[in-house]
Amino acid sequence: MSENNISIDQIVSLSKRRGFVYPGSEIYGGFGNSYTYGPLGIELKNNIKNIWWKTFVHNRADMVGIDGDIILHPKTWHASGHVGGFTDPLVECEETRQRFRADHLIEDQLGEDVDGWTVEKINKFLVGKELLSPATKKPTLSEVKTFNLMFSTQMAKTSEGEDSKAYLRPETAQAIFLEFKNVVDTNRVKIPFGIAQIGKAFRNEITPGNFIFRRLEFEQMEIEYFVHPSEWEQLFDNWIADMHQWCELIGLDNAKIHELDVPEESRAHYSTKTIDFEYDFPFGCKELYGCAYRADFDLGNHQRESGKKLEYRDPQTNEVYLPHVIEPTFGVDRTILAVLCEAYNEETLEDGSTRTVLKFKPNIAPIKVAILPLMKKDGLPEKAKAIQEKLQIFGNVEYDEGGAIGKRYRRQDEAGTPVCITVDYDSLEDETVTVRDRDTMEQERIKITDLFSYLGEKYFQ
Ligand code: ATP
Repeated sequence: MSENNISIDQIVSLSKRRGFVYPGSEIYGGFGNSYTYGPLGIELKNNIKNIWWKTFVHNRADMVGIDGDIILHPKTWHASGHVGGFTDPLVECEETRQRFRADHLIEDQLGEDVDGWTVEKINKFLVGKELLSPATKKPTLSEVKTFNLMFSTQMAKTSEGEDSKAYLRPETAQAIFLEFKNVVDTNRVKIPFGIAQIGKAFRNEITPGNFIFRRLEFEQMEIEYFVHPSEWEQLFDNWIADMHQWCELIGLDNAKIHELDVPEESRAHYSTKTIDFEYDFPFGCKELYGCAYRADFDLGNHQRESGKKLEYRDPQTNEVYLPHVIEPTFGVDRTILAVLCEAYNEETLEDGSTRTVLKFKPNIAPIKVAILPLMKKDGLPEKAKAIQEKLQIFGNVEYDEGGAIGKRYRRQDEAGTPVCITVDYDSLEDETVTVRDRDTMEQERIKITDLFSYLGEKYFQ
């Protein structure tokens, strides 16, 4: 099967089999859209987050980071427009009580894209048309209602009611806006500059699905980039280019990434321009990342609602103004899904057997090198473990002594390990090892003393 023709089931199955992603709460029969990143999954995730932070924070002079809370002052979400406007249209099946995204059903069954329409307009459109409940295959659906996607919770410190209501953040961005002034006052930052944050966000999605693509809780890597209002257009284009470079850096094929200039009616309530980065997932071309021009929507609203000045004074010109914001946003879970799909290959070998291999770029691979002693005796494990220790500087290096060597190679292929090193009896005599490349399966004999520079140059620059 070619790499372009994989199904999501293959990804789900490999993810579970090899410990990338497990269905969550499985011993209790599973729990909706809950997942756990397993031992390989967490390595992949951490690699992605670390490379992102290095690329966008450490390697740039115009970026700093913060780590804000998940539960912020509830007024934040009134000011940001999320309490009033962060909604999806919902219909309920009156027989089964199941709920569905009205816009998705209308698009699938009636071929009409109602993205951005008001509920009134959608209900008017539906008069005289038949929309079927996916649960009963009959027209047993309620009228369309709006549904707020924020998870709310009650704080213990005040008695129940509106005053004690708090929200789990639906995006990481808002903590950045709340701390804008603090960051400016306590750091040597000058506009244009950005603040980055990585963290969990929560959305009460009506129809989560497609594995880890649409989840109720997920992670975002977000940047709010503050600019002078006159400069936003050029800086926005620079960010689009930087986002493409990021995709390449983690091994995504830019031919599978499509920019969508999101039309006004489909844009989020805070945005006046948005470019979505859509990726060719096995289930269709869907949003991977986005870059939104939020203008002064957020700082302006928070300034008004809090009564605190959030303006910036230019140190050279003394001009005082409310900065505008460009927001490149990257979903961690969708990145993981995209790199899994990109890397997945099933190959037919010369002897007719097939191998499943994840061709990750070495920088994101969960295991960088596997060290395999040919036998579990005669000093081979000790020799292998000494090599493992030396190579750990490249990251996670796995030691595996169990089973036939061919099977151990296949195991590492499925984990996406770029290189395997086999320690055999000759190694004890001539201080060389066999180095096997994951993609070509070619093997080379390399001196142990040369391993570090060989691997450094070939895989881990
Ligand atoms: P969609 O249209 O697919 O619901 P969105 O436009 O609402 O996505 P944004 O608000 O732009 O998404 O969120 C920023 C990023 O967070 C997205 O580009 C995506 O990578 C990620 N993301 C958003 N919602 C989810 C979710 N429910 N599960 C996983 N990742 C998500």
